[in-house]
Formats: sequence, structure tokens, C-alpha cells
Amino acid sequence: MIHFDNSYARLPEGFFTRTAPTPVRDPKLIALNLPLAERLGLDAEWLSGPEGVRMLAGNALPEGAEPIAQAYAGHQFGGFSPQLGDGRAVLLGEIVAPDGARFDIQLKGSGPTPFSRRGDGRAWLGPVLREYLVSEFMAAFGVPTTRALAAVSTGEKVIRETILPGAVLTRVAASHIRVGTFEFYAARGDRDRLRLLAEHVIARHYPEASGAAELLQRVVEAQAHTIACWMGLGFIHGVMNTDNMSVSGETIDYGPCAFMDGYRPDKVFSSIDAYGRYAWNEQPKIAVWNLAQLASCLVPLMGDTDEAVQEATRIVHSFPAIYQREWLHRFAAKLGISEPRDEDRGLIERLLELMAGEEADFTRVFAGLATGRARDEFTDRDAFDGWSRVWQDRISGLADAKQVMALANPRRIPRNHLVEQAIAAARDEGDFDPFRKLDQALRAPFEDRPEWDELALAPLPEQIVQRTFC
Ligand code: AMP
Ligand code: MG
Ligand code: MG
Repeated sequence: MIHFDNSYARLPEGFFTRTAPTPVRDPKLIALNLPLAERLGLDAEWLSGPEGVRMLAGNALPEGAEPIAQAYAGHQFGGFSPQLGDGRAVLLGEIVAPDGARFDIQLKGSGPTPFSRRGDGRAWLGPVLREYLVSEFMAAFGVPTTRALAAVSTGEKVIRETILPGAVLTRVAASHIRVGTFEFYAARGDRDRLRLLAEHVIARHYPEASGAAELLQRVVEAQAHTIACWMGLGFIHGVMNTDNMSVSGETIDYGPCAFMDGYRPDKVFSSIDAYGRYAWNEQPKIAVWNLAQLASCLVPLMGDTDEAVQEATRIVHSFPAIYQREWLHRFAAKLGISEPRDEDRGLIERLLELMAGEEADFTRVFAGLATGRARDEFTDRDAFDGWSRVWQDRISGLADAKQVMALANPRRIPRNHLVEQAIAAARDEGDFDPFRKLDQALRAPFEDRPEWDELALAPLPEQIVQRTFC
């Protein structure tokens, strides 16, 4: 039993189409996220039983679900697409957790919708497992993100470059409302729906905001925090289109995303990002670009005057200062400094320069600062030792710094080669053990255990994954 309370489905006509998931042939539960089920107040036993699995596959609708496909638009790689929308997902409904927080329950890969265009509405196992692993790692580390409640296999084939096993992910989010949702109505000059959407988002995510300007300010702050979190993990989202930027600030749409192994500021993994628009070091700038699109949408609700344009511009331009503060806070913590000063910026940047000079492993260098093993990650040990002396003077004693670093630097990340290995085992042999082991280890990013040591290693040259795909 699930108690739904579907506030988005109560919005008037024009925000979505009522679309049921398409049943699949032979649904089987791959993974159920027990801690998340508990956090949401859902009955895990019911969810993993026959009725629950039918729901998670889209084969049965529980009472109270009102499946819809949401309309949205978006700038994709800088070009505007006036109509995207949920082409392979349906929102089953919303639930209110025991602590009062409201969540969307969405099936991704659940069949075609009126927004599918030429797509099949399906997902194959690989991206479903990747999103499950990566989004849950992000959540465990404290990064705002959508989450993965369950993954089921469908018993059906999906045709991509080859024939692949199909799967459905149950995604949980504060909401699935994107910058592109606002763009959908702004582009149509539909001011009434724009206003209703803004009111809905304020009530749901920013109840203390008094209007469109404050809403914009809150989204700017939320995104500055989230992007700083990404940067601190070497995370590259890969498709920061405006339809993949949530107004709640949660990381959404784990497509060709990846974490860096060796540190290169301009690193790109996505096979479709030919010009590096969404490279690691471009992400804060792209966030500003995306937020400027949101600002344009909100100007009509702010009076539509020259003053409104200036106000919206000022708010977007508040991003860099907020982001820089967040960045300093996070990167200083990675060095064991809990109360950073402006001068610490140079210390952080100097270490990043040394790392970039020889593509030192991003995760292992920072994790190694607490253990004394960071030095081993460099070939130019003298340069590192020089930096380390200045660093040690700054922190005045490793004991306190260690406590700060312990919670700022993950021991392991969802490295591409490990995620690919887990997917390959599941796809080729039906063996989900590597997936399960990786999932367990990633859920405890601050914990050391001997059986997880190998998951903290950098890839061997022949294991390095250079390209990721949607
Ligand atoms: P994305 O690149 O994942 O942000 O998706 C961009 C758009 O393409 C969204 O409107 C998706 O719903 C749609 N889309 C992606 N994959 C499929 C698919 N297999 N079938 C139908 N629509 C899809
Ligand atoms: Mg998307
Ligand atoms: Mg996607």
C-alpha cells in the first residue's frame, strides 16, 4: 500500500498528459533500496513482493497513482527545443514521507508517451544500473540528488546499437520540475501557466520565497551548492541541458555522467559532447547560462519592466560569489580546513595545479592527505613535498584536520571502469554480484574495509574508460 497525494496532477490541463506505463513481459526485481524505502515510509516487504514488483515494472497501478508524462522544453547544447517532455518516464504520483517531505515516484524506461517522438520509451539495463549506483553514491555523500528506489528487469529486449536487456528504474525526486519546465510555458507566452508553475514550485520547494525574484534567488543558491559538490568529487554531469537542471537543486539525469580518475580540468567523457561544452571546469559557467534562461522565463512574472530585467540579471550574477564561497568551503575541507580564509584559495589551487601537471588521481590524492599516501600519487615528489610543507604549516597538526578530511574526501567513487564492469557482468552473465558489491561499498564512502580496498584503486591503463554514452 502506498498513500499518494498528487499535487502536480492537480494542476490544470496543459502541464502533462495522462499516460499509463506500458506493461512488460517478465518483470524481476534486481534491486530494492531498503534504506530509501524506510526513509520514505514505504513497506519494503510489499514493494519486493509480487504486487510491489508489478508496480515497479509498470505492470500494475496501485490505488491512488495517477500516471502522467510531464511537459517540458529545454536548451540542448545551447539550442532551444520547444517540446521535449517525459518521453520514457511516467510520474506515478507523489508521496509524503513520515517527516513531511514530499517526493515524486517516477518510473523511467516505462514505455512510450505522447512525448516520445521517435524513441521507444525504454531503457536498457546499463543506464539503469549506472543511475542506481551513481545517484545513491551522491546521496550517501550528501550531494543533492534524485534517488533510486528500485531497478527491475523487464524480460524484454531493447534495440540500441545492439540488442540489450531492458530495465525500469524507479526514481525518487523532490520534484521533476526543471528549468525547461518553465521554458515550455515562457516560449508559448503562456503567462497563466507560468504563474501557476512558479506558485507550485514556491509552495513545494521554497515556501519562504515571496515571489518570482526570490524563487530565482533560491534556485541560484541551490545550484551553486550542488555544482560545488560536483566539483569537489570530480563529477562531470555530461548533459547540463536546461531540461536536465532541476529547480529543486537536485542532480538529475545520470546519462553519460562520469567521475574523473586522473585530474584534468577540461575533462569530458560524453560521446555526444564534441566541443566540451559540459567539461568539468565549464560546469559553473554553464550553470549561470542555464540560470539566465530561467531568469528570462521569470521576468514576465516580475513585472516585465526594465527594472525586472535588471533585478533578474543581478540575481543571476549573484551565482559566482555564492559558488566561490561554496567552492572554498568544500575544497578547504578536503585539505582539513574547516574555517577557510581567502588566502587558502591559493593553497588549494597550487595543489590542483600540481595534480593537473601529471594527471594525478583526483580521489586518491585527496583521500591520501589524511593517510600520508597522497605523495605516492605524484611522480614529482619534491613539488608535492614543497606544497605539503606549506599545507602542514596552515593546518597546524594533522589530528584535527584528519577529522575534517574524513568527511570531505570519499575513499572510493563510482569509477567508470568499475561501473562498466558491473554492467557487463549483469548484461553478459546475469551476474549482479559485482553491482551489489559496488553498491554496498559506494553507500559507505567514508568507511574503510579490506574487501573494498580494490574498489579504491585507480584504473590500470588498459581499464581506463574514456567515453561514456547516454
Ligand atoms: P535526455 O538526453 O535524457 O535528457 O533526454 C532528452 C529527451 O529525449 C527527453 O525528452 C527524453 O524523454 C527523451 N528520450 C530520451 N531517451 C528516450 C527514449 N528511449 N524514448 C523516448 N524518449 C526518449
Ligand atoms: Mg533528461
Ligand atoms: Mg537522460
